[in-house]
Amino acid sequence: MKKIAALMLLLCLLLGGCAKSGPVETEIFAMDTYMRIRVWGDSGLVSDVCDEIYRLETLFSVTDEKGEIFALNRDGKAALSAETAELLAKAAALSERTGGAFDPTVYPLVRAWGFTADEQRVPAQDELSALLPSVGVEHLQLNGTEAVLTGGAQLDLGGIAKGYTAQKCLLYLENEGVQTAMVSLGGNVQTLGTKPDGSAWVIGIADPNEPSEAVATLTFTGSMALVTSGGYQRCFEKDGVRYHHILDPETGLPAGSGLASVTVITSDGTTADALSTALFVMGLEKGAEFWRGSDDFEAVFITQEGKIVATEGAAAMLGGCEFEVLAR
Ligand code: AMP
Ligand code: MG
Repeated sequence: MKKIAALMLLLCLLLGGCAKSGPVETEIFAMDTYMRIRVWGDSGLVSDVCDEIYRLETLFSVTDEKGEIFALNRDGKAALSAETAELLAKAAALSERTGGAFDPTVYPLVRAWGFTADEQRVPAQDELSALLPSVGVEHLQLNGTEAVLTGGAQLDLGGIAKGYTAQKCLLYLENEGVQTAMVSLGGNVQTLGTKPDGSAWVIGIADPNEPSEAVATLTFTGSMALVTSGGYQRCFEKDGVRYHHILDPETGLPAGSGLASVTVITSDGTTADALSTALFVMGLEKGAEFWRGSDDFEAVFITQEGKIVATEGAAAMLGGCEFEVLAR
């Protein structure tokens, strides 16, 4: 009898007949990173989400000639789709809010460091100094869906596009009637709803020194975006010095703020993504001040020495490690 039950269970799993209780899951490579999509629902929805990710990847890519950001960077002006215009407006607002620590016009710097073409190099100070005047969100003019770039500016949405994409995917699923889902797009995790068994989401924060391992976990229920920016996510070494991909728009150099990573927790994926990049540039002290002046996010900072510091709200979700708590 037991044998028959086991066979039935195996058959059920093989035929996907048990998918109603468990998630349908897939992994893809897009936007230069590995992505995982889990939907408690129909497998067709998972492939819809993948298609949506590939579509947005093209739209926002700096290298895909079919994309809108590519065209805007090439021509200095473009008539955009409503969603690209929406993302640019958000990016500009978040750049202003963070005092330029998050800056979507860093593309000339990112290219000079060779991060786009995966041909990393250390640019000379003269080269960076010559590029800095073209960096700054004041060079982006948006009039509805018409965008103009002035002063040689070029856009790179690498610091915000994955968060926006995660947000869009979950919105799509929600509109399709899905109650529970999770996407993990590189360092961008976003959840929808609560798991059918009522158990909490437990999301690991990568150990900056051993990124395949979690150094801590965040436990919560419901819909949330958790986005990590870390120097370890893309970096190279030259003459014994490590250089990473998150640049300080004021200097053109990899941000040397003393942080190894920052995780931002908030309901909106786009905001979480831009803020994690910005807080990484700001560092712990300025980042803490910025948090005290805000009321829409929580954060976990990991310093280069390995100290973990959590804002009050993040501390309530944090486990598996020792940490300090930032008070308001
Ligand atoms: P993230 O991993 O979200 O922190 O984004 C890092 C990516 O955003 C880099 O690979 C660059 O493409 C771009 N980027 C680098 N520095 C900045 C910055 N200060 N503001 C906005 N985007 C940036
Ligand atoms: Mg970001």
